[in-house]
Amino acid sequence: MNKSFKTFLKHTAKDYYNQSVNPPVVRASTIIFKTMNELRNTQAKGKKNPTGGHFDYGRQGTSTTYILQQMLKKMEECHHVFLTPTGFGSVFLSIFSIIRPGDEILLADPVYYPTRLLTQDFLKSFNVKTVFYNPHDLSTLKSKISKKTKLIYVENPGSNSFEFQDLSKIVSIAKKYNIFTAIDNTWATPYFIKPIKLGFDMSIVSATKYYSGHSDVMGGSLAVNKKVFKYVEQANKITGLRLGPDDAYLIIRGLRTLDIRLDKHQENAKKVARFLSKNKKIKLLYPYKKGSYNYKMWKKYYSGASGLMGLKIKSKSKKSVVKFVNSLKLFGYGYSWGGFESLALQQEFRELGDRNYLKLNKNEHLVRLHIGLEDPQDLITDLRNALKYIK
Ligand SMILES: *Cc1c(COP(=O)(O)O)cnc(C)c1O
Repeated sequence: MNKSFKTFLKHTAKDYYNQSVNPPVVRASTIIFKTMNELRNTQAKGKKNPTGGHFDYGRQGTSTTYILQQMLKKMEECHHVFLTPTGFGSVFLSIFSIIRPGDEILLADPVYYPTRLLTQDFLKSFNVKTVFYNPHDLSTLKSKISKKTKLIYVENPGSNSFEFQDLSKIVSIAKKYNIFTAIDNTWATPYFIKPIKLGFDMSIVSATKYYSGHSDVMGGSLAVNKKVFKYVEQANKITGLRLGPDDAYLIIRGLRTLDIRLDKHQENAKKVARFLSKNKKIKLLYPYKKGSYNYKMWKKYYSGASGLMGLKIKSKSKKSVVKFVNSLKLFGYGYSWGGFESLALQQEFRELGDRNYLKLNKNEHLVRLHIGLEDPQDLITDLRNALKYIK
């Protein structure tokens, strides 16, 4: 039977392991075989071992990580999924697999700050040049392509500033010039958009966020198409990056309810967005306002929106904006997001990285909200009370 991925997410354990509802956590360094022949055959043919994996050593994973890979492969509709111990491990693996000394990387300006540190700063000493394009003006992308450009690296929407880009256009430019493409798809996950189907070579998701959904584990996934598989596999073998089986188990547990949770995050976020959009001091950085460029680009490619949004707040008093955030009772203050709970962050401009294309004036302040699975009415009441402090 050809099951949809929604059903697949609920039934995977049964498809790969039939002795309990949940798959076992297989902790292993050494994998043992019945005979030397069986060991050599597994190595030679990449044959599946009895519990469903095809490994001859624990660094390649165990049957627990194998089950997680199968679930993600089904959802991404891709050739293969690599697992890493953090989301940033997948960012690193995607770049490390493709980039060599002398190459250039073209990066979306609003990428996740550590991605900027890796490319712009760290790789510089490896003779790799990083250039940035404006997410809302792809002529800046085209004009920066050179003979050395090897990879276009996109993050959509932009980190903290939430710009939505014309993804198909980026893919078609890259194809024309024979450049590899990668996208960080942590915000939406393949539940709302499938980048490999859209033509991207690599797609990154931090499993720490919505996949796990409970803020208790870290992990990353890198989905690839056939074209880049051999490069990533080769690099993956020598990085030593490996997701542990206990963490894989927790991510499998979270993934079963990914669709249900994301539907609810979206519903709650929409209600909060409707409330916030009435406040004249706030510009919502969320695909809510019909007719805006961001909304159009979101609508064109996405089947839904997650629970993470930005607020651009106009105020002469930064102190009052901090007071607004500090007065929230139902929002925790801390990094990361994608769990069941609501979070808030007042953001300093330097935390966004040295942006080339983001201009904020003195009277504009950024706040990031993750809208969790609480009763949205309670969240709105909490926000309404705290918003009074903004001067
Ligand atoms: C969190 C995040 C990462 C890194 O994931 P970790 O699991 O924290 O290492 C990468 N990209 C984006 C967009 C993120 O939000």
